[in-house]
Amino acid sequence: VLHNMVLDLRGNIRVFARVRPPLQTEEDKMLCGWSFPDEATLEILSNEISGSKKLKHDFSFDQVFDPNTAQDEIFEMVSPLIQSAMDGYNVCIFAYGQTGSGKTFTMDGHEGKLGIIPRTVKLLFDSIKTADILGWKYTIKASFLEIYNEVLYDLLSNENKDVEIRMANARNKTEIYVSNLTEVEVKTAARLHELMIIARSNRATAATAGNERSSRSHAVTRIELTGQHSSKPETLVGMINLVDLAGSESPKTSTRMDETKNINRSLSELSNVILALVQRNEHVPYRNSKLTHLLMPSLGGNSKTLMFVNVSPFQDCFTETVKSLRFAATVN
Ligand code: ADP
Ligand code: MG
Repeated sequence: VLHNMVLDLRGNIRVFARVRPPLQTEEDKMLCGWSFPDEATLEILSNEISGSKKLKHDFSFDQVFDPNTAQDEIFEMVSPLIQSAMDGYNVCIFAYGQTGSGKTFTMDGHEGKLGIIPRTVKLLFDSIKTADILGWKYTIKASFLEIYNEVLYDLLSNENKDVEIRMANARNKTEIYVSNLTEVEVKTAARLHELMIIARSNRATAATAGNERSSRSHAVTRIELTGQHSSKPETLVGMINLVDLAGSESPKTSTRMDETKNINRSLSELSNVILALVQRNEHVPYRNSKLTHLLMPSLGGNSKTLMFVNVSPFQDCFTETVKSLRFAATVN
C-alpha cells in the first residue's frame, strides 16, 4: 500500500511516488512479459502504496500519484519549486526507478503529454515576462550533461574535451563548476526546447554506441537563472537541476562489473547524501560520486530537493518495485 503523508514542511526534501499505467504494448511485453497487473499487486491509498500479495509492504510518501494521474496534475505539485529557483534557490528534481517505470515520461514526456522539463521551460519564460513588469530582468543559461560510468559528457558538444567537476575560489567561497561544459544563454522557450532536442539526440547516439547506455546513465538538464532588479542592488541566482537517473535495477548481465558497480554506487551515494541531509549530519559525503559532487551546491543548505520514485504496476516487476519504494522511503 502506498500511503499519502500529510504534506508537512519539515526540511526541504520531498518524495513523490508515481505508479505508471500498463500500456499493453510490445515494449511492455519485453519489459514485463505480459503479466498484467492484478488488483492485488499494488494498492494505492491516499498517500500510501502497499503490496498486498503474500508479502505485505506499506510505504508512505509526501504524494502518491496513481496510474491515472495526468502530466499537468504532476506539474501542479512541482511548479512551486520553479518559482523558488526564480527566488534564488537551487532546486533538484530527480526521477528514480527501474528501467521502464516512467522516469523519462515523467521528466520529458512527449508531444501532447509533456513532462516536467518542457513544462518547466514554459513556466519559466512565462514567469520571466511577469517579473519583467515588476522590474526584474532574468538571464537564463542551460547546459546538458550525461554521467555514465562515473564520466561526465557534455550533451551539447561532440568534441572530446575534458569535462570535469572543478572547484574555484571566488569571493571567499568555494564554487563548483564543470570544465569545458557548453553553457548556452537562452532567450526564448523555443530555443531552450531546441537545445533539449539536440541533447536528447546526442544522448541517444551515444547509447547506440554503448550497450544499454541510456538506461545506465544519468541525464542532467541544468538551468541557471540570474535575476537583477532595476532599482535594487541584490542579484538572485538560482538553479534548476532536472535529473533522469540511471535505471535502479541490477543488470541481468554481469559482464560489465565495473559499470554495474559505478551505477549502483552513484545511486547509493545519492541516497547516502540525502539521508545525511535529512539526519542533519555534520558530514555529507558529496564527493563519493560524480552525481552528488556535481549537484553539491543544489543538495542541502538552502536548496530544495524533490525525488520521484517511479514504479511499474506489473507483477513481474514487483521485486524491483519494492526495492525502489524501500530506497525512496529511506530518504523520505
Ligand atoms: P524509464 O525512463 O523509467 O525507462 P519510460 O519513461 O521510458 O521509462 O516509460 C516506459 C514506457 O511507458 C514508455 O513508452 C512511456 O511512454 C510509458 N509511460 C510511462 N509512464 C507513463 C504514464 N504515466 N502514462 C502513460 N505512459 C507512460
Ligand atoms: Mg528513460
